[in-house]
Amino acid sequence: MRILVLNAGSSSIKFELFRMPEETVDARGLLQRIGEPLGELACRIGGHERKFERPVKDHAEGLRLILDALTDTAHGGFADLAEITAVGHRVVHGGEAFHEPVLIDDEVERAIEAHVPLAPLHNPPNLLGIREARKALPDVPQVAVFDTAFHQTMPPVAFRYAVPGELYEQAKLRRYGFHGTSHRYVSERAAAILGRKPEAANLVTCHLGNGCSMAAVRGGRSVDTSMGLTPLEGLVMGTRSGDIDPAVAAYLERVRGLTIRQIDALLNKQSGLLGLSGLSNDMRTLLAAEAEGNERAKLAIDVYCYRIRKYVGAYTAVLGQVHALVFTAGVGENSAPIRARVLAGLEPLGYRLDEERNRAAVRREADIATADSPIRILVVPTNEELVIARDTFELALRRPSRFVAG
Ligand code: AMP
Repeated sequence: MRILVLNAGSSSIKFELFRMPEETVDARGLLQRIGEPLGELACRIGGHERKFERPVKDHAEGLRLILDALTDTAHGGFADLAEITAVGHRVVHGGEAFHEPVLIDDEVERAIEAHVPLAPLHNPPNLLGIREARKALPDVPQVAVFDTAFHQTMPPVAFRYAVPGELYEQAKLRRYGFHGTSHRYVSERAAAILGRKPEAANLVTCHLGNGCSMAAVRGGRSVDTSMGLTPLEGLVMGTRSGDIDPAVAAYLERVRGLTIRQIDALLNKQSGLLGLSGLSNDMRTLLAAEAEGNERAKLAIDVYCYRIRKYVGAYTAVLGQVHALVFTAGVGENSAPIRARVLAGLEPLGYRLDEERNRAAVRREADIATADSPIRILVVPTNEELVIARDTFELALRRPSRFVAG
């Protein structure tokens, strides 16, 4: 059985084709620059590396290009689109409506559309991907997997903001959290590595990529997370400020005459590591610059690590007892120096890092705590696409009548 996983962004479509239940990947690729003069599809299909450069007008054309490449038998593709038995879509915002993945129908599409005000940059392209996939593969069950869903188990004390209650009741203003699929995957893996049932594992998970977030996970359920109503809150990220005094907006309007849109763009696109360093949003570039004596790069990395350390302390307090701290995503999986800087000074809280194990752990599962550390420290490469494939497979199987229909 083949499951196609799609992640449609504003000008890109990322895809991965899984064979289930084996969980092997037959193809994966990334189409970029949709709507620009020259689009680019880079993919690996059945062992064949391929690259296409051509104008791709819109998501419909982009999906067609991907499906054509997948069925190009001369270059590793399979013969017939009918071999795709279900499609799983990453959807960023499911608000309070979606606590788990769902089989997509017109009503679900409308609900995702209703959440556009909460995620104006993400839900519209996700929805485009869904609509085009439903048109291109009308007889195939399609499943939506939401970034917010895993965090729907947070208690009100964690998700409510201290603003007038009617803003929650009427405008749904609250913390939602994101990267849920990643936090869920790594917390399940971490429990397995610890030899514990998910219900018996308390974890602090750190997703440190271009976007960064942390979660406190008690017994397999998210009880707090650092991102909020939008992905802007919390940690310092590539280009996002993370936590900041909300009065900054009024101040910038007063002293700089910036509009709210400009402030939103400033905090989302020009801040974080990029803003602090004035150099780059990319951690590798900053580490290299710091090594050459660049003070601004050093400050950016210091602020980034300090903020994570604060959240480790906060979530240790939230959970009371922590069995493991988990690092994942680009920085978390690859950068031993950042992991070491984050944890420096946290030994009294029970986090004892083994320097040797830390250095050796690059993009693979590893326990990098000392043998006598009261809390384990784990590196777990994330795999959001696999979670989406599993959820899609499971839902498609659970609904055999819809599954074979058409
Ligand atoms: P992601 O969004 O998960 O792909 O993560 C992207 C981030 O991971 C970028 O800031 C990269 O610079 C960072 N990254 C990837 N590899 C390394 C590495 N070896 N050392 C430090 N940062 C890395």
